[in-house]
Amino acid sequence: AADSADAVLLGLDPEQREVATTLRGPVCVLAGAGTGKTRAITHRIAYGVRTGQLMPASVLAVTFTNRAAGEMRGRLRSLGAEGVQARTFHSAALRQLQYFWPRAVGGEVPRLLERKIQFVAEAGARCRIRLDRGELRDVTGEIEWAKVTQTVPADYPAAARKAGREAPRDMAEIAQIYGTYEQLKRDRGMIDFEDVLLLTVGILQDRHDIAEQIRAQYQHFVVDEYQDVSPLQQRLLELWLGERDSLCVVGDASQTIYSFTGATPDHLLNFRTRYPQASVVKLVRDYRSTPQVVHLANGLLNQAKGRAAEHRLELVSQREGGPDPVYAEYADEPAEAEGVARRIRDLIAAGVPAGEIAVLFRINAQSEVYEQALADAGVPYQLRGAERFFERQEVQKALLALRGTARSGGNDPLLEDLVGLGSQVRAVLSSIGWTTEPPAGSGAVRDQWESVAALVRLAEDFARGRPAATLADLVVELDERKAAQHAPTVQGVTLASLHAAKGLEWDAVFLVGLTDGMLPITYAKTDDQVEEERRLLYVGVTRARLHLTLSWALSRAPGGRASRRPSRFLNGLRPGSAAPSRPGSAGERVARPRRRRGPALCRVCGRTLTEAGELKLMRCEDCPSDMDAGLYERLREWRAAQADRQGLPAYCVFTD
Ligand code: ATP
Ligand code: MG
Repeated sequence: AADSADAVLLGLDPEQREVATTLRGPVCVLAGAGTGKTRAITHRIAYGVRTGQLMPASVLAVTFTNRAAGEMRGRLRSLGAEGVQARTFHSAALRQLQYFWPRAVGGEVPRLLERKIQFVAEAGARCRIRLDRGELRDVTGEIEWAKVTQTVPADYPAAARKAGREAPRDMAEIAQIYGTYEQLKRDRGMIDFEDVLLLTVGILQDRHDIAEQIRAQYQHFVVDEYQDVSPLQQRLLELWLGERDSLCVVGDASQTIYSFTGATPDHLLNFRTRYPQASVVKLVRDYRSTPQVVHLANGLLNQAKGRAAEHRLELVSQREGGPDPVYAEYADEPAEAEGVARRIRDLIAAGVPAGEIAVLFRINAQSEVYEQALADAGVPYQLRGAERFFERQEVQKALLALRGTARSGGNDPLLEDLVGLGSQVRAVLSSIGWTTEPPAGSGAVRDQWESVAALVRLAEDFARGRPAATLADLVVELDERKAAQHAPTVQGVTLASLHAAKGLEWDAVFLVGLTDGMLPITYAKTDDQVEEERRLLYVGVTRARLHLTLSWALSRAPGGRASRRPSRFLNGLRPGSAAPSRPGSAGERVARPRRRRGPALCRVCGRTLTEAGELKLMRCEDCPSDMDAGLYERLREWRAAQADRQGLPAYCVFTD
């Protein structure tokens, strides 16, 4: 057993190993993106389980997204630590709520409200307050903030003022809408996302018997992405813990991207104050990204300001060099989307799997033009949003067929000869018309095929982890995933918001729409808000393992006025741009690069270049073609300046 436990430590560096083997007392891991925080805690749990120091059922691991929780469960399973609960705060709370509701409150748990914004609109209407779309979004955000900070409607104005919130409307009006919204929900017997945590916290506070029962079950807690814990989640965690301190938290203050909802890195940064006996471990080796990507990430951190920035950790890449980040400017959004789709097609042709590519944007509305461009280019893609996977018609049909067959207990003669769950699943799905080979072309038919293919892959993975599993076991697993909204990955290009990309990684990442106004987004006004936008870009950059492309468009529609500028966060980092005059200041003017006038010269002999071909190469025909690094750098600089001077309409600047 000792040998097999040690095997878990093999893939870890000394600091990660320290995290994995410190199983007693509070542990805090402070480390930048890609340094293996998630890996360290996963191995820690596996090590504890394998050495018999942690009982699987007594561990509760909390991650930020359902996908991350699912990945952690998968990794734990393959590390021989099955049975550990890995969930989001929300899904862990919902489960406890469902379990204890009949005893604590009686009856069934109220239904979960899905279209919150409609309820807020209705509440506004009842209060005779007209809200436009932007206000509606902002008021909803304020209500969410109030709830996670446990602020009741009457206290909202004072609390919001104290917290320096930028309210979209008069604060008393918002308080009124908030109160009406709560009433509406109650009248209709519904609860919202925040209520799940609020009610769980309420029950655990009031009912010591229930709190004790939960504490008796869970002895050890591990929290990933702790920098983004909200006050409400923190409260829940404290209630779970009681007087105990078996808590391991990991986080990166530079990746705080949810403070607009009331989350705060203070709990992470003050962990030592709260638990003076805590072991604090720092990781700096970046295992995810190439030195080129890490260089840009560090550059972004160096321009950051504020509390989180004081705790930044310089990353040191452990990987071999790769391609430089590509900066691409386009005339308009459709041109940008087309250009990105083209590059994606090239990457796929060069052997990068579609599932290893992501297009990340600031707001979900940006995705549409990319969906269109990828569909036109015949590239399969998926929108992040696990919840929709199980609602797709083809998936529901497939599940129904599997459940049917599973219920008949495998008596179906068709199945007797089939070895393995994967073959069984394929056979069942073939019987409802699914083919093993993908249909030609792209579009809806191909998308449907991909969803079902993802189910088949999931069945195969599941069977690998549990060779004796039956179809009925698989159906149970699928139902669990459906309840937790943890969908399998469909192997297409991922389209996701930067917020949803947290904790994930891809070989190739496209950060699109990087204009001033989109990132930072126009409604980020205060210094703190702008800094959060910068961190969002840092999160985006650090999702890339190898290829990173940053792009923007100068106008929205073709033929429009080129009024947009590249994101100010790229100043001083993007070749050909000047460093910001006052680093990190919120109101800084976008610095224009200094214009270099004069003719282009051969980078080798200095002769004036006139021929188009020579200009392109930055070298006269007489000079040798071998290029050392310094020259190459100068070439890039020159092209940046050139591009800026000519205001080229649509070009991809640095794709040598
Ligand atoms: P983020 O802050 O983005 O959540 P993270 O710190 O959680 O990042 P991980 O996702 O755990 O980082 O690890 C990043 C990548 O580096 C993963 O692909 C992981 O498998 C790999 N990795 C981590 N540690 C090591 C190691 N010691 N040796 C080799 N690869 C590693
Ligand atoms: Mg992580």
